[in-house]
Amino acid sequence: MTRLVIDNLNFSYDDTDAARNICLSVDKGEFVGLIGPNGSGKSTVLKNLYRALKPDSGKVSLDGDDLFFLSHKAAALKLGVVGQENDVPFDFLVEEIVAMGRSPHKKLFDIDNEHDKYIVHHALEHLGMANMAKRNYLHISGGEKQRVLIARVIAQECDFLLLDEPTNHLDISYQLQIFDFVKRLGVTALSAIHDLNMAALYCDRIFVLKAGEIVLQGKPEEVLTPENILNVYGVRCDTRIHPITGKPAITFLPSGKL
Ligand code: ADP
Repeated sequence: MTRLVIDNLNFSYDDTDAARNICLSVDKGEFVGLIGPNGSGKSTVLKNLYRALKPDSGKVSLDGDDLFFLSHKAAALKLGVVGQENDVPFDFLVEEIVAMGRSPHKKLFDIDNEHDKYIVHHALEHLGMANMAKRNYLHISGGEKQRVLIARVIAQECDFLLLDEPTNHLDISYQLQIFDFVKRLGVTALSAIHDLNMAALYCDRIFVLKAGEIVLQGKPEEVLTPENILNVYGVRCDTRIHPITGKPAITFLPSGKL
């Protein structure tokens, strides 16, 4: 079943066409990656989906409904977002930030009940953050903040995640942990991913953006070929199917004589 359909989406900032004729779909349970060089439009596409930006034209539907006609609450019950800007401007405890994920499930003045507290605690526990529940969010590291925001989206209990480079700032063990975790959740996800080897390991399908347009799409082994990577990123590499993972493993080559 197809869950998200982006049909011919266009968006420009004042003088930059940042997303042009974007057509993309995500099926139920799929983990789809958006890759491309810096400035190619990955964040812009995602922001148009989580309504931080409004498309100039085009249509986005989620489970058959036009995304832009859903109420904020209806959208938040389905769609969780981990964006790139992870600075929360006020003084909150870690557990309070995660508890914000519960708000789509509640009425305006409802207080957190035992079920909410259980979910918040477990979300933090899953990410190895339970011992930080009472810490001030502003006083933890960038990587820890990122994990708190993933815990918040898990507490939201939605089944479609939009992730904008969710493992930025994280060391390799947490990068693997976050992607493993999202895969285990079995939710549907569309994620901008910076690291091509991570994209190769975790994505069912990949869309490649270059200068605001989708230039390639397919399974990791179809997309992440040395020729395509040279065309899109201008770097040479060697790609092999790894004997253990069965996925492409990319080794980048220095621009010298190799
Ligand atoms: P990516 O996420 O792939 O790095 P972005 O979506 O952030 O790319 O950027 C796409 C293009 O839009 C770039 O040329 C970038 O400079 C431009 N851009 C991004 N944000 C803004 C903004 N707020 N105002 C003007 N131009 C922007």
